[in-house]
Amino acid sequence: MVKYIRKSVRYLKPYTPGEQPGTKSKVIKLNTNENPYPPSPRVLKVLRKINGEVLRKYPEPLADSFRKIAGRIFKIDPDMIIAGNGSDEILTIIFRTFVEEKDKVAYPVPTYSLYPVLVDIQGARKVEIPFPDDFSLPKELADVDVKIIFIANPNAPSGTFIKPGHIETLVKKVNGKSLVVIDEAYVDFAEDNCIELAKKYSNVIVLRTLSKGYALAGLRFGFAFADKRLINEMMKVKDSYNCDAISIRLAIEAISDQRWLRETVGKIKSQREWLREKFIELGFNVRKSYANFLWVEVGNERKAKGIYDSLKRRGILVRYFDKKGLRDGLRITVGRPSENRKLIKEIQAILGAQDAKR
Ligand SMILES: *Cc1c(COP(=O)(O)O)cnc(C)c1O
Repeated sequence: MVKYIRKSVRYLKPYTPGEQPGTKSKVIKLNTNENPYPPSPRVLKVLRKINGEVLRKYPEPLADSFRKIAGRIFKIDPDMIIAGNGSDEILTIIFRTFVEEKDKVAYPVPTYSLYPVLVDIQGARKVEIPFPDDFSLPKELADVDVKIIFIANPNAPSGTFIKPGHIETLVKKVNGKSLVVIDEAYVDFAEDNCIELAKKYSNVIVLRTLSKGYALAGLRFGFAFADKRLINEMMKVKDSYNCDAISIRLAIEAISDQRWLRETVGKIKSQREWLREKFIELGFNVRKSYANFLWVEVGNERKAKGIYDSLKRRGILVRYFDKKGLRDGLRITVGRPSENRKLIKEIQAILGAQDAKR
């Protein structure tokens, strides 16, 4: 069988998504950065009213009705927008549009673990540049000779944020020799964003998703802003009907309810600060987060895995990365207040039991 498989696939280490227990499970899920609240009631109302007739016909190939409204809401020319089946699909479209075999692709690490997988599938080459201790933008990024630079901002799993001005400095230094892709999956939880860079520089692509801030991870809808000429090329590569009729309809409703977004994000941010304080009281180092999760530095690999396992036995899933440099911490999604309180209570109990054993 193996002889049929492309080498880049045969030797591929695939992306490992966080665990998804069945929908009926009572597990408290703090492992994949989903929004703990239901989506906007406007989205749910339209969902309930959807007529089966929309499924009989093909959807809009370019999701033009979404682009038109997104253009108004984000104050950008609709021709500078592409929609996709989640921003993960847009990442795939970016690789297929711009990256040749053997091309180099750079990104600071640690970051979103899908990037290396996409590089490998394409048969391209990874240039991984470690973040400095303060998670500022690595200076070397400006000097590497690569096709694309990817920056997740806010970054995962660190939760840190690079000021748009610093990214602009990089874009200026790069001076058109590479594309700069800014993955803003978590930007709804931050205080600023880079959309202006996509308007101003023809080599900047900004990615957005409805999966995190808008509580629609199951819908699979993402979009990107970039120069029209880049968008046009990406449109040539994507599947003809990459967004289904229902997702286009609901995505429009979701972005139209910015008040819901502000309120929901506000609740999550205030819980994020509460949780961070609690973790610091428990003796962990936790950087300030600009996303809907916290990177909790447990400081010891065995202890981190121990807390992850114990939490799982107690019905709470958090994210543990079995990966160099990440084994001594846990990435924990901000949940609802009751979930966050339970999380802290269980961790206190686990730490108490560990101390008693010693
Ligand atoms: C969640 C996430 C995405 C992908 O989101 P989609 O669900 O595919 O829209 C992209 N980048 C980062 C950094 C993410 O965390």
